[in-house]
Amino acid sequence: MAKKVLPGVHPSNAKNTTHLAPVRMATPAQVVIPMSQHIGAPCQPVVNIGDSVKVGQLIGEATGRVAAPIHASVSGKVTAVDKITLPSGNISVTVTIAADGEQTPYEGITPPTVTDYDSFIEAVRASGAVGLGGAGFPTSIKLCPPDLSAVDTLVVNGAECEPYITSDYQIMMHHSEYVLAGIAAVRKYLELSRVEMGVEEHNSDIIAHYKNLTADDPAFTVHTLKCLYPKGAEKVLIYETLGRVVEEGKLPFDVGCIVMNVGTLAFIGSYLATGMPLVEKVVTVDGSAIREPKTLIVPVGTKAGDIAAAAGGYKAELGKIISGGPMMGIALKSEDMPLLKSNNALLFLDVEEATPPPTTSCIRCGRCVRVCPVYLMPLNLERAYNLGLVDELEKLKVNLCIECGCCSYICPTRRPLVATHRLSKQLLRESKK
Ligand code: SF4
Ligand code: SF4
Repeated sequence: MAKKVLPGVHPSNAKNTTHLAPVRMATPAQVVIPMSQHIGAPCQPVVNIGDSVKVGQLIGEATGRVAAPIHASVSGKVTAVDKITLPSGNISVTVTIAADGEQTPYEGITPPTVTDYDSFIEAVRASGAVGLGGAGFPTSIKLCPPDLSAVDTLVVNGAECEPYITSDYQIMMHHSEYVLAGIAAVRKYLELSRVEMGVEEHNSDIIAHYKNLTADDPAFTVHTLKCLYPKGAEKVLIYETLGRVVEEGKLPFDVGCIVMNVGTLAFIGSYLATGMPLVEKVVTVDGSAIREPKTLIVPVGTKAGDIAAAAGGYKAELGKIISGGPMMGIALKSEDMPLLKSNNALLFLDVEEATPPPTTSCIRCGRCVRVCPVYLMPLNLERAYNLGLVDELEKLKVNLCIECGCCSYICPTRRPLVATHRLSKQLLRESKK
């Protein structure tokens, strides 16, 4: 039976930086590096105020199993070990480094010796890799499913479906050697028999490029995905490429696959070749307030204000900074917030664009239902939350919501649906404690 195309929306693409190849920004005067940049246990700082550090040197040790170590992104001197409230609301220890502008690499940087699955996982852990598509899940853990023998497929996420963001496009276009090296390593050491790569149809140049590069490999398929947000959502992508359905409470490995973002794979490819840990990111810098939209290579820990300055500063009064895309991104509370490993875009919106539209009552038009990619009833979820009906929220399966924002986007009365779904999940969690 032919697969259905899952519902979604067509937000304005606004990919203004597609033809702007990545350029390295000038080293900022200072970086502030949080010790908690991933899902899981925070890292413990292993440097003190006054210590000199070099690029790639370990500054935060991963003590928990679900964690990824953190490395200096600039060379210079540690000037503070402090605390910060992250956009997620979590409080994290930070290490501040005053850059010396030399960007001297740490002497201990050498390509890792990888001979088998265990040494590969150890190398990925030591690299500091986390999911670079925005999730921030430690990659070494993702590569250790409970039953590896039941996993046969690597799903490569090249569906950069959020408006504005082009960082994955740039990586796929300009660093295909690293993308393919990362794919080859995951495939070899996890003994996966298939690779399914999904790319949206508007990136026809990328599709042609990868089809050409993998033409001799019958187990590597490049899928052309419809331009319909959110094709890059994990469960949606698995369905669109493999036709497998990840049910409620299940994870990709339950249906025999591992999903990895192209940025993460390219980083793994680069780390295996150079040994340089995850210390910088390709970042889309755009939005109505920014003077010169750019694709920048940015040291982790660079403040949002310094990144804006590297893109020509502001052409209009700044209303809001969003880390990520307009559909799923998180607002930053100030220009002092540092770039995290998982950030792939910063959007600087002017006051007009940042002002939420007025909301009115639901008119029961059903549009939110029609666009939900996981077939939920967003209007009923909102009603259940407003009435505090916890059992109803469970029955309506709010935990299946992938927080894609399609329902909020399409709603003609501008109901804050996705924000309510997040609160509903929290309510459900608390009620179960
Ligand atoms: S789209 Fe908005 S107005 Fe229409 S049913 Fe959903 S919540 Fe109500
Ligand atoms: S209910 Fe959740 S999954 Fe469905 S459209 Fe809204 S945000 Fe997306």
